[in-house]
Amino acid sequence: MSSLSHRGREARIVIVGAGFAGLSAAETLVKAGFQNVQVLEAMGRLGGRAYTMRPFSENIIELGANWIHGQKGNPLFQLAQEHGLLSEEDSARKSVSSRNYFFKEGGKQLATVDVDKMCSLFDKLTAKAFDSELEKRHRPLSLGDYLDRAFAETRLAASEDRRRIFEWCKRNECTDEACSSLYEVSASQISEYTDLKGEFFNCLGPGGYQALLDLLLKSLPPEAVLKNQAVETVQWDLKAEEQGQEQRCPVRVVCENGESYEADHVIVTVSLGVLKERARTMFTPALPKSKLCAVERLGFGTVDKIYLQFSERFWPEDCAGIQLVWNQGPEDKDVYSCDCEGESWKDTWFKKICGFDTVARHPTVLCGWITGREALYMESLRDSEVRDVCVRLLESFTGWAVPEVCQVLVSRWGHDPFVSGAYSFIPKNVNGVQEQKALSAPLPPRSKHSTRKPLQVLFAGEATHVNFYTTTHGAYLSGVREAQRLISHYAHKTQNS
Ligand SMILES: Cc1cc2nc3c(=O)[nH]c(=O)nc-3n(C[C@H](O)[C@H](O)[C@H](O)COP(=O)(O)OP(=O)(O)OC[C@H]3O[C@@H](n4cnc5c(N)ncnc54)[C@H](O)[C@@H]3O)c2cc1C
Repeated sequence: MSSLSHRGREARIVIVGAGFAGLSAAETLVKAGFQNVQVLEAMGRLGGRAYTMRPFSENIIELGANWIHGQKGNPLFQLAQEHGLLSEEDSARKSVSSRNYFFKEGGKQLATVDVDKMCSLFDKLTAKAFDSELEKRHRPLSLGDYLDRAFAETRLAASEDRRRIFEWCKRNECTDEACSSLYEVSASQISEYTDLKGEFFNCLGPGGYQALLDLLLKSLPPEAVLKNQAVETVQWDLKAEEQGQEQRCPVRVVCENGESYEADHVIVTVSLGVLKERARTMFTPALPKSKLCAVERLGFGTVDKIYLQFSERFWPEDCAGIQLVWNQGPEDKDVYSCDCEGESWKDTWFKKICGFDTVARHPTVLCGWITGREALYMESLRDSEVRDVCVRLLESFTGWAVPEVCQVLVSRWGHDPFVSGAYSFIPKNVNGVQEQKALSAPLPPRSKHSTRKPLQVLFAGEATHVNFYTTTHGAYLSGVREAQRLISHYAHKTQNS
């Protein structure tokens, strides 16, 4: 058995960012006995990309993370289950057998049987891209190219409607990959992503993700987490003469407001989007080349939500969502190739909206989803402009009378200076595992004869997890991983328990 040494208890640890990665690292360290843990969060709220709000009523909506993906081995699912935080209403809703309504341009509804057939074919083809036996064949392909080829080999490709639904499936998949297009995503590398067993979409109850964050926060002393403390620089490998008189710490974290913190270890949990913008200026000395390359090579895309609250419900009670199927959508290879050259996609940015889902506990609210460069572009428009476009889409696709929109709420994750996107993906021709490992490697690099203090700067966050990147549980586990690294470093070995 090992327990924490005195040096460990006294070690000064600063954690940059209070999302799931930062809070799980803090919780793990505090539970292990570390007494000097300080979390610095730039925003005026905690949770990062998990953001539970109440804009329409006392009921919550999630502007960021929505579901817990998978059950078996998912620490957040277990935590939510143990504390009764999962949604009961949702399992009841599922039994009512609600379904998605798919519409073509011009107000014609697509037959459910065709849609179901295509969606299950799409799932099968995507699952095959994950199949490691086929990896060699797929290695050079983008996910979009692989899917096009596999689809062309099926008899279903001959039907126009089925081709259009296939395009919708690809557009919808862009939400999972947070990409502008599947033609940018690696086909073979997504095999490293691991789906945990059990229901994939698990909904939280009335407290939403905030209830889970609150559980983590409860285990921390209140003063351990500071909001509105944006970190400007992380100065590491400080020479003796640069270190503070009293502390003698190898790292100094300096905030934008001028306050600074001396530390033995810093765990950086900012998003890959933030690193893409700031990795070259945030660290002194500069980060090693391998880490800068990983920051550059790994993909980080935008996913946004558009919440519309209507004066009344205008969709049937069994409707789970209104999905928009274009004659020529942005994930058609021809359209994509053509759009690559210019900026014409800006005129048709709204074609990237997959559809509008109904929202639990909000009977008159719909939530639209949009990804990639079109999402980023949408973020530059006024809410009223986005609202008007959505209403026009809903009217023209469904042919239903759309009542007044009382409130609109648009996420702008791409322009949030402390997030800069939604989550990571593995681009075509990038070795995901290699880059994720480079991204998570601690500094200074391990070397036998080095006299430099070890584990000065550690890295956690969704994008550093090899199997669960993109997810809240990936973020959580990455924080635990880095905390465990420090726990092992300071472990005081004893013979028996
Ligand atoms: C629209 C959307 C939908 C999603 N849906 C799901 C879903 O359904 N299920 C799922 O599992 N995942 C989902 N995700 C992904 C999930 O939210 C993230 O993977 C996870 O929350 C990331 O946690 P993190 O701790 O790695 O990063 P973050 O949550 O980004 O935390 C990093 C923190 O660092 C702070 N920070 C940044 N810069 C500084 C600085 N200079 N100084 C101090 N602090 C700083 C940030 O403010 C932030 O709080 C979704 C994300 C989005 C955007």
